[in-house]
Amino acid sequence: MSTTLYRKYRPSDFSQVIGQKHVVQTLQNSIKSGRIGQAYLFAGPRGTGKTSIARIFAKTINCTSLKNGEPCLKCDSCKTILDGRSLDIIEIDAASHTGVDNIRELRETVKLPPSSLKYKVYIIDEVHMLSGGAFNALLKTLEEPPVHVVFILATTEVHKIPETILSRVQRFDFTRLTVEEIIERLKQIAKLEKVSVEPEALEIIAASSEGGMRNAESLLGQVIALEDKKITAKEVEFILGTVSEKEIADFVGQLVGHDFPAVFLRIADLRESGIDFKNFGKSLLNYLRQMLVLKINPDLGKKLSYELTKERLGQIQKQISEIETDEILEAINVLQENTERFRNSQIPQLFLEASVASLAINSDAPKQAKMISSASPAPPIAAQNDLKEKKTAEIKPAVENKPMKLEAESKKGSAKPILKEASSGDLELVLARWLDVMDSLKSYNHSLSSVLKMASPSLIEENTLIIKTKYDFYKDKITETTNRLTIEEAIDKITGVNLKIKALTEKEFKAEYPNFKEKKSLLQEAVDIFGGKIVKD
Ligand SMILES: [Zn+2]
Repeated sequence: MSTTLYRKYRPSDFSQVIGQKHVVQTLQNSIKSGRIGQAYLFAGPRGTGKTSIARIFAKTINCTSLKNGEPCLKCDSCKTILDGRSLDIIEIDAASHTGVDNIRELRETVKLPPSSLKYKVYIIDEVHMLSGGAFNALLKTLEEPPVHVVFILATTEVHKIPETILSRVQRFDFTRLTVEEIIERLKQIAKLEKVSVEPEALEIIAASSEGGMRNAESLLGQVIALEDKKITAKEVEFILGTVSEKEIADFVGQLVGHDFPAVFLRIADLRESGIDFKNFGKSLLNYLRQMLVLKINPDLGKKLSYELTKERLGQIQKQISEIETDEILEAINVLQENTERFRNSQIPQLFLEASVASLAINSDAPKQAKMISSASPAPPIAAQNDLKEKKTAEIKPAVENKPMKLEAESKKGSAKPILKEASSGDLELVLARWLDVMDSLKSYNHSLSSVLKMASPSLIEENTLIIKTKYDFYKDKITETTNRLTIEEAIDKITGVNLKIKALTEKEFKAEYPNFKEKKSLLQEAVDIFGGKIVKD
């Protein structure tokens, strides 16, 4: 089906060619003025029309009743070429004829005059695949080509063509097609095939085809094979395992607006729709990349026209006006890191949720910092260091003078004032970076890192992080002096929060804090809401 569409709708004259205006115009001008070159090089990405234009050119220079630089498509030579019957149009796939013998053979046949047409046209596709010897043999022919012969070399990798060849050919650079050009063509094809396709569905196909018409037509072919009355964007997304730019744009819109609960809801919806999260992540990263590029250089919009419609471009431009460069960069970093971190996770959307949670926490961080400083000014560094050295951090000068109500309820009385606000902010921070803490321990001691996976940081009291474990074994491991110090150091290094740690089994924890209400990380909350568990590889 896909190849059928591609063959069926090959342009048969210059007017049907999509894009490549500069190439078409120059070629047509040379035909009109009768100045036809003997060797051309068509360079450019795959599926941008190189062989199609080569064939049209071959047809046009052989047509016996030219009309304004276009082939008539009716004369005998046009017809034999159209049917692929002509012996004078020779197409060679260099990928399968790389050897010098193939080119030697070609050199022999080049000498023979055309059998019926005016010109013999050699179209050598993927010419960069030729061996060194074959290039030399080809060069000899290009140096003294018989008058009745025209060479059209095509390549996707022009940098592999020897300089000696380049100097003998007239070079044309083919560009990727813009999303709009592809959509226009797909619309025509859909109409001719009598299928109805939603405009957004066409947009998805065009954006996924990387500027290549052949890719786009092949994707459209897959979609048409569904034999559906009306092909929707959802179906296309499903088939391609991709997501629409609109979906991504809306997602980013909520992210930029810091509407994190809505983003989580969207992720849940995406999950229900059975989306491929790997592809979603890739598309999202690419979208953020586009934002970054345009934020730094707005003029690059033109360069993105083969991946974006004008409408999407406008949307991105609006979004980047509401976000700072470092925020975009942070989103890219966080997403990339989490994509790698959760690669083997059983929960496909986890990398996304963790990323959004992390961005949410960071976007709140300045507010929290303010709250902490207004609630209890941090003790001077010197005082903090003193505290660290004292094994028993019983005394807290900063709050000593203003005991809180909670203190009375606290088991150990006045010796244990609780810095409620400050602690909760710190705990958030520790929870947010907990995976990083575990990761950093991996290189030091893999089994310790594994032990921590079975433990959960639950509260901060008196500069001490209480870590809850299921069994005694884990508690003992964490409590071992070297391990304990190592974990404390890792927490300090990664979160910047200076804490002692203390491990308790769940039983002990319950006994000591009977009224404790779990303070969950955003990640944990997400996992609870959407099901699944946190999996670390
Ligand atoms: Zn003709």
